[in-house]
Amino acid sequence: MTKPAILLVSLTLLFTTTWSQNITSKKTVIDNPADISITSNSTDLPFFTSSADAEKIVTSIMSAMGLESDFKIKEAHVPNVEAKIRHHERYILYNPQFISQVNTVTRNKWASIFILAHEVGHHLDGHTLLDINSRPGIELEADQFAGFVLCRMGATLKQTQLAMYYIANIDASKTHPGRADRLLAIEKGWNKAEAEVAGVRDNGSTSN
Ligand SMILES: [Zn+2]
Repeated sequence: MTKPAILLVSLTLLFTTTWSQNITSKKTVIDNPADISITSNSTDLPFFTSSADAEKIVTSIMSAMGLESDFKIKEAHVPNVEAKIRHHERYILYNPQFISQVNTVTRNKWASIFILAHEVGHHLDGHTLLDINSRPGIELEADQFAGFVLCRMGATLKQTQLAMYYIANIDASKTHPGRADRLLAIEKGWNKAEAEVAGVRDNGSTSN
C-alpha cells in the first residue's frame, strides 16, 4: 500500500470513530495458542451463547460485587464487545460471531465470562461516563476489575487470564495495552480478591 493510501485509511478510521471501550483492538485476529488447556470448574453459569446467557452471567458478576444488575445486553454490529451508555441506560453490545469464536478456540466458559466482566468494569469504573475511547490505562483498570470479580466468582487465575491469550495482541497499541501488561493487571485484581478472602478466613479463625 502506498503512503497516501495509508494516510487515507487512517483518516477514515479517525473520522468514523465513535466513543466506545472495546475489549480488544478493532483489528484483532483471535489467536490460537496450542499449549493452553484448562478444564472448567463446577460453576453453574452457562456458556455465553445468547443474550439470555449473558444476562445470567452479568447478574452473577454484579451479585459477586454485592450489586443489582441493570445492564442491557444486546447483539450489535460492533467489532467485538463494547460498553456504552445510550439514553441513560447501560449497555453491553456484542458481536455474536466474536463470542462464538472465543468459545470455540478457548473451549472454556470463563473466557467469555471474563470478557463480559471487563465491560462491566468499564461501566462500574465510570469510563463510559467520560466520552472517551479505549486507551491503555482504562483497559488495564477494566482488566483488573475483571480479574478481581472472577476470583470472587470462583475462577482460578489461569481461567481468569485465559481469554487474554487469545484476544490480546502481544504489542501495545494506542487503544490497548500489550498482552503481558494485561495479564499482569488481571493477576493484580485476582490477587486482591484472593487476599481479601484469605483475610476474612484468617480473621475468622482467630476470633472464633
Ligand atoms: Zn475494554
